[in-house]
Parts: sequence; structure tokens; C-alpha cells
Amino acid sequence: MLIAKQKNHVPQNHHVTAYIGVGGNLGDPVTTVRSALAELGKLPRTSLRAMSSLYRSSPMGPANQPDFINAVAQIHTTLAPLALLFALQAIEHQYGRVRTGARWGPRTLDLDLLLYGDRQITEDVLTVPHPGLFDRAFVLYPLHEIAPDRVVPGRGTVRALLAGVMDQPIEAIR
Ligand code: ATP
Ligand code: CA
Ligand code: CA
Repeated sequence: MLIAKQKNHVPQNHHVTAYIGVGGNLGDPVTTVRSALAELGKLPRTSLRAMSSLYRSSPMGPANQPDFINAVAQIHTTLAPLALLFALQAIEHQYGRVRTGARWGPRTLDLDLLLYGDRQITEDVLTVPHPGLFDRAFVLYPLHEIAPDRVVPGRGTVRALLAGVMDQPIEAIR
């Protein structure tokens, strides 16, 4: 019997366009977010295609922590979704992220896989589109900057989703 085995990459000439949410609020988050964006372009089988501006916003969840800095990157990759997730977690680790403490608590670096082509994925460790994508200004403002017409599977365009979060305070960093 054949056992289906997930390949950890897709053929080199069939790259997927993916979007990564980058955020952090400890140490020097502006510098961390900028260098993490550059780090994405150094991943194997991956190229960095576009980056948004950086945005500053108040923390979601526990309020007694510094403001967050966020941005979104567009990449082309032939890494499979889980391989990409693990590569993102390795970068988080490299930047000193410690996975303890409260959800949405302070962290040096958070890399979320927002979109992977038009795929919808529901696995124990990976949900795509990222569930926070639909209602978070700090994701939708930077994503809209680089991909306003992108269709989020099952949800319409980024532009339409942005209209629903315009009441959330957020500041673009010049
Ligand atoms: P949120 O996911 O609400 O933004 P968070 O980023 O603080 O919260 P983390 O502690 O970074 O959450 O991640 C918790 C788990 O989420 C990870 O261990 C990972 O397996 C899982 N996860 C599921 N879907 C995704 C995704 N699309 N991108 C990144 N991690 C994901
Ligand atoms: Ca997150
Ligand atoms: Ca995360």
C-alpha cells in the first residue's frame, strides 16, 4: 500500500505567493522587525518580493506591555506550508523569542503565516488563512499597503476587510 507522504517543498518552478505578519514589542522592535523582514529573504527556496511600512499600535491582550511594531512581507516560496512555519519559528527563536507566558504577551519577534497562495489549511499546528487576519488592524493596514486586491479565501478582498477595522487606532511609522 502506498503511504501518502507530504513533501516539504513544491517544485522549484511552482512557487507560491505567501504573506508573513511580522511583529514585536520587546528590546528594539523597529530594528528587530526590519532585520526579520530581511531574514525572510534568506530562507531556502524563498525570495522576498515586497515589504510594507512599519506600524505602531497598542498591545492586544495584556495592556501592561510596550506598544507593538508590525509589518507584512510578501514572499515567493517553494517551501511547503509546514516547512515554512517551522522556518519562521526558527527565526523567532534566533531572535530570542521564548515561548512561555500569556498568549499575546510581550515578545521580541512574532512571525505569523497569514496567507499561503489560495490554500485553506486546518492542521493542529497550522491554520491558514491566519485567524487573526480578518479583524486586526495591525495586520490589515500593512497587508493592504502591498496587496489591496488580494482575495482572502472565503472572505473577499483585503480592501474590504480593511474597511471593518478602520476604527482601531494604529500609526504608520515614517
Ligand atoms: P495569534 O496566533 O493569535 O496571533 P500568537 O502569535 O501570540 O497569537 P503564538 O504563541 O505565536 O501565537 O503561536 C501559537 C501557535 O500557533 C504556534 O505554536 C503555531 O503552531 C500555531 N499556528 C497556527 N496557525 C499559525 C499560522 N498561520 N502562523 C503561525 N503560527 C500558527
Ligand atoms: Ca501573532
Ligand atoms: Ca505567532
